[in-house]
Amino acid sequence: MYLKRLEMIGFKSFADRTELEFVPGITAVVGPNGSGKSNVTDGIRWVLGEQSAKSLRGSKMEDVIFAGSDTRKPVGYCEVSITFDNTERKLPVDYTEVTVTRRVYRSGESEYLLNKKPCRLKDITELFMDTGIGKEAYSMIGQGRIDDILSTKSEDRRAIFEEAAGIVKYKTRKKEAEKK
Ligand code: ATP
Ligand code: MG
Repeated sequence: MYLKRLEMIGFKSFADRTELEFVPGITAVVGPNGSGKSNVTDGIRWVLGEQSAKSLRGSKMEDVIFAGSDTRKPVGYCEVSITFDNTERKLPVDYTEVTVTRRVYRSGESEYLLNKKPCRLKDITELFMDTGIGKEAYSMIGQGRIDDILSTKSEDRRAIFEEAAGIVKYKTRKKEAEKK
């Protein structure tokens, strides 16, 4: 399984529809300061369910929508789609490609889609559980995160190993069952 494509429409500095294609192996994103490199990784975290505006370097969720520039008007909504290759069926759905989309309007209305069908954030979180993919999972290592991992409490560090071992799913289900 690998990240195949990222599509952004009206997300942060990407006013126009912008599509990035990835291939297996290493991809480096380079560019001058302020050209939008970090906005790309913000887009990946946002589409996977990031709820904290601050962690996306804004003050409110609306800040992810293109706010206009000297030459362009602001836009009314933004959308990010991320596509994973699933030919090996690592994700438990019968599709060779899995696309997650998140859309939000200035009015605050928002939605998530899984292969173009409306779904809940919970469905997306569960789908990626134990894969290492997710807004908090180890496939995204942000600046300073290694320090965090090393200095964190042993119980918190254990969570990273549990995700890698693939048992988070079962722990979550157990917790949910205990609530009922
Ligand atoms: P550096 O090399 O300094 O880390 P970078 O390539 O990572 O730079 P980003 O932080 O991704 O750059 O991009 C910052 C740019 O994105 C700024 O110019 C900022 O104005 C613009 N930007 C962020 N949010 C929005 C928004 N909602 N609307 C328009 N532009 C935005
Ligand atoms: Mg940056």
